[in-house]
Amino acid sequence: MSMSPPSPSSQTGFPMVDPFGRSIDYVRVSVTDRCDLRCTYCMAERQIFLPRAELLSIEELDRLCSVFIGLGTRRLRLTGGEPLIRKGFMDLVAALARHLRSGALDELTLTTNGTHLAEHAEALARHGVRRINVSLDTLDPDTYRRVTRGGDLSRALTGIEAARAAGMAVKINVVALKADNAADLPALVAWAHGEGHEMTLIETMPMGETGIDRTDQFLSLTEMRRDLEARWTLTPLAKRTGGPSRYVRVEETGGTLGFITPMTHTFCETCNRVRVTCTGRLYLCLGQNDHEDLRPVLRAGDDAAVARAIRAAVSRKPKSHDFRIGAGLAPAVARPMSMTGG
Ligand code: SAM
Ligand code: SF4
Repeated sequence: MSMSPPSPSSQTGFPMVDPFGRSIDYVRVSVTDRCDLRCTYCMAERQIFLPRAELLSIEELDRLCSVFIGLGTRRLRLTGGEPLIRKGFMDLVAALARHLRSGALDELTLTTNGTHLAEHAEALARHGVRRINVSLDTLDPDTYRRVTRGGDLSRALTGIEAARAAGMAVKINVVALKADNAADLPALVAWAHGEGHEMTLIETMPMGETGIDRTDQFLSLTEMRRDLEARWTLTPLAKRTGGPSRYVRVEETGGTLGFITPMTHTFCETCNRVRVTCTGRLYLCLGQNDHEDLRPVLRAGDDAAVARAIRAAVSRKPKSHDFRIGAGLAPAVARPMSMTGG
């Protein structure tokens, strides 16, 4: 597969700045809406996936990412759906690695459920992926099977081990779920830190219909943090990634723990990111519906026009999201996380 760099006219190298003065230098790109799991907070049991023709091709994804890099994007996260099941995914990683080598890109990362990581960890590391986020909500095989609707915990654990063996730093993402893992979270934190991994706890966000009531799943991390503070000493860290995470060091384990609390705090003032769906829609905010459809411009073949469309969209990035969870409330946004990419 031959992939060309973006045309010089789209390359400025300076980050885009939105109307609120925020530099936009981080892009998350969903490469597929499909997944081999069906986590209860993310997808419906009989999730309907997009026709393949609607997805951007691997070449189109490479062109689009490269245009973003030309517009000053320094960090790129590939996600999904499950990125490692997208056909040609490793070709995309291999192609994007040229931007790491040239110094145009600081970081190429991915978020994965880990089930196919064992096969790909070495190649990812070889292409320059140094950090990887793996989603794992429990260490109990039965709970894992129930939450993921059929997943095999041992595959995810083998994948995490392979990533470590390949030299990548692993961050474990955990969605806090009232009924499924609330009681096990301290043990999960202790396990991750014992293995040398960072961990981030995430509140469930109301995205897409999953067939399950969000009010029943939602666990406030403010309460969870109080529980953890009764057990351990949590020292706030200055570390910021421009995203919603706030970090602490757990003194007793020596590990880092992040909290993503979109429902209880706002984190929008320092937002540095935009997201692209697997069909090429650019969303300026995870929790808002305004978007720009980049696929027609991309398919017209003019990268300079793609760059102009991105700039125009960023110039209307909203100030903040509008998430609420409550009995009977519809999801704030109809698209599931698997389309926009977490
Ligand atoms: N399949 C990969 C995985 O699970 O890591 C990547 C895509 S997944 C959509 C990205 C992240 O979004 C995961 O950490 C997942 O736990 C999280 N996620 C999915 N649906 C969510 C929701 N409704 N609220 C909060 N986090 C969610
Ligand atoms: Fe798949 Fe990730 Fe969604 Fe779970 S959270 S269903 S692994 S895309």
